[in-house]
Amino acid sequence: MKKRILIIGGGFGGITTMHALKKHVGHDAEVVLIDYRANTLNKPRLPDVALKGESVEHARFLMKNAVKHDGYLLIQETVQRIDPVMKKVYLKEGGIEPYDYLVLAPGVKKYYSGIEGFREYGYSVCDDVQAPRLWRNLQTFKGGPVFIGSMPYRSGTRVNAPKLLAPCEGPVGEVMFMLKEFLAKKGIGEISPVTAFSPAKIFFEDVGEKVRNSVGEIMKQEGIGLITEKIVKKIDAEKIYFKDGTSEACALAIILPEYKPYDFVVDSGLGDEAGFIPTDEQMRHLDYPEIFAVGDATSLSVPKLGHIAVLQGDIAAKAIALDLGKKIEIPEFEPAVLCIMERANLQATMIYSNVLYKGKLDETLNGPMAFMMKWSFDFYYNFTRGHMPPDFAEKLLVNYLNKRK
Ligand SMILES: Cc1cc2nc3c(=O)[nH]c(=O)nc-3n(C[C@H](O)[C@H](O)[C@H](O)COP(=O)(O)OP(=O)(O)OC[C@H]3O[C@@H](n4cnc5c(N)ncnc54)[C@H](O)[C@@H]3O)c2cc1C
Repeated sequence: MKKRILIIGGGFGGITTMHALKKHVGHDAEVVLIDYRANTLNKPRLPDVALKGESVEHARFLMKNAVKHDGYLLIQETVQRIDPVMKKVYLKEGGIEPYDYLVLAPGVKKYYSGIEGFREYGYSVCDDVQAPRLWRNLQTFKGGPVFIGSMPYRSGTRVNAPKLLAPCEGPVGEVMFMLKEFLAKKGIGEISPVTAFSPAKIFFEDVGEKVRNSVGEIMKQEGIGLITEKIVKKIDAEKIYFKDGTSEACALAIILPEYKPYDFVVDSGLGDEAGFIPTDEQMRHLDYPEIFAVGDATSLSVPKLGHIAVLQGDIAAKAIALDLGKKIEIPEFEPAVLCIMERANLQATMIYSNVLYKGKLDETLNGPMAFMMKWSFDFYYNFTRGHMPPDFAEKLLVNYLNKRK
């Protein structure tokens, strides 16, 4: 009988796993994707929604089309609990789905309510509700001090992943650069100083000094301030308050909230002490060999990046294919921080850095070429319903960056 593979979550990690299973396992297994959303959300596109007023439709594609194209099945439902011993997934509306293999790719819960006053005075870019909400607010923004930063990340200890205090500061960088352009165009740039804040001692602690200096240089040119070791406690109509007792006058606070594991992961006993899913480097759960996990929900994904979710999805699918008797080589897990931050006038800054994982590459690419890369990626990803550009594209980029060093 065919083995049954369930994938929970159709974001970067889950969709990549599904496409890779299609390639390496095909229809020798029954593959089912479960997600409560109708659309896959390309979150790196959300700053365009929040700061340029782009339609949120440009940041997503219909999940059912991606699944149908692979010839698999989509269940549009919310997972409520998993029984890892009986190998069953319990759905909110009452269904129970058995599995031989399970791939967990639900991402993380954005804990906005952990910030006092966020509902009334806080803004964000992390999802398709918050990004258009920020755009709406900006239409009537009259100017004043702006603060942008993230809440801290709490990781567990079962997996040997880098320890970072910020879950991912790329979106903070992109928003501060794009906001500068927006404020200048609106004619309120002068009265609206922009300050980035970080919970860590170092802003962009996930990259090396070369990239950090390069980002710091652009921040200086753009007149963006920086404060570090700041954790937001509260926001009100006039101020932003930090846990160290300090506060600043603030007219607009844009915050990446704490990234928390979903309750169903924790309640099913599948998380580490912080609730993230512990796996080995083939993405196999440390306690349940038929469960795999990829993406932001895993302990191994640090920082929380789509690029890492994609690497994990490919490895997990290949490890399952090997289990199913396919002759296949499983690649090493070699993560890198890859992020493209859009700036004014069709410029962007691309970061490619793997020094956090003992690699040697720590490069930025500035200018219209980086902007084109972002645009091409978004177009390719949406148009192909969640496929990544061919491997050689990244290899070419890495070769180029290595030569330029
Ligand atoms: C503004 C912004 C910019 C970014 N820019 C970059 C960048 O330049 N480069 C980069 O590499 N990364 C970037 N990222 C990070 C990247 O978007 C995430 O790391 C990535 O989306 C994680 O993928 P995932 O598959 O783990 O989770 P997600 O993409 O969050 O997908 C999870 C899916 O699981 C589903 N789900 C959750 N719970 C359940 C449940 N109980 N039942 C059923 N389905 C469920 C959700 O509906 C969702 O579709 C950015 C993030 C943001 C917010």
